[in-house]
Amino acid sequence: MTEMADRLRDALAEPWRDLVATARRTAAEGLVVGTSGNVSVRVDDLVLVTPSGVPYDRLTPDDALAVRLDGRRVLGTLAPTSELPMHLAVYRTSAARAVVHTHAVHATAVSTLVPELPLVHYMTAALGGPVRVAPYETYGTDALAERMVEALEGRSGCLLRNHGAVTHGTTLDQAYDRMAQLEWMCRVWLTAASVPGHTPSLLSEDEIAAVGRKLAGYGQRPADEQPGG
Ligand code: 13P
Ligand code: ZN
Repeated sequence: MTEMADRLRDALAEPWRDLVATARRTAAEGLVVGTSGNVSVRVDDLVLVTPSGVPYDRLTPDDALAVRLDGRRVLGTLAPTSELPMHLAVYRTSAARAVVHTHAVHATAVSTLVPELPLVHYMTAALGGPVRVAPYETYGTDALAERMVEALEGRSGCLLRNHGAVTHGTTLDQAYDRMAQLEWMCRVWLTAASVPGHTPSLLSEDEIAAVGRKLAGYGQRPADEQPGG
């Protein structure tokens, strides 16, 4: 191992640890089975990615793997995820700093049923609007990355037909939370839609847009910015 690789590994140790923790969470919380799915995080002009086909609990600090935005590997010896074209396409076309891809069961089920997730819940707004389903393409191909970029237009998540889901965010936690929300929303729709004799009520695009504006101020803010503060 060269001194330069050592230095790069040290510099990227913390984001690599966070990436592995996020990848392990997708497995621990049931969003992926085995080595399906993959995670990446961008650090300046480098992208740390999970290796292809390696169970996340086996990853060590020495396995750190980084590529440039053109896909050239600059750190590590393991082969990067087969979905590298998808991850790099997100970073090339958005301000995202983290990407999570899973085969979460409800998201994957919905991807086989509709071209867009019906507006069953206001949290659709947290993903930027109605969640589209990208047409099917073989895993790991540039064609799949292209269809995904189209489906992600103006959104931070989409489904991939007969495959799974992709979300992105400004942090690994945000990308992960969006994936968990998307999977939960798919589960809500499947649950409601499967009650015999009933059809779920849906929200309008205007109702989703109103929530989008309100969510911009959701959660905790400095005390002097809080209502009544
Ligand atoms: P990798 O193990 O190569 O990341 O592939 C998993 C996957 O989800 C392919 O779509
Ligand atoms: Zn996949």
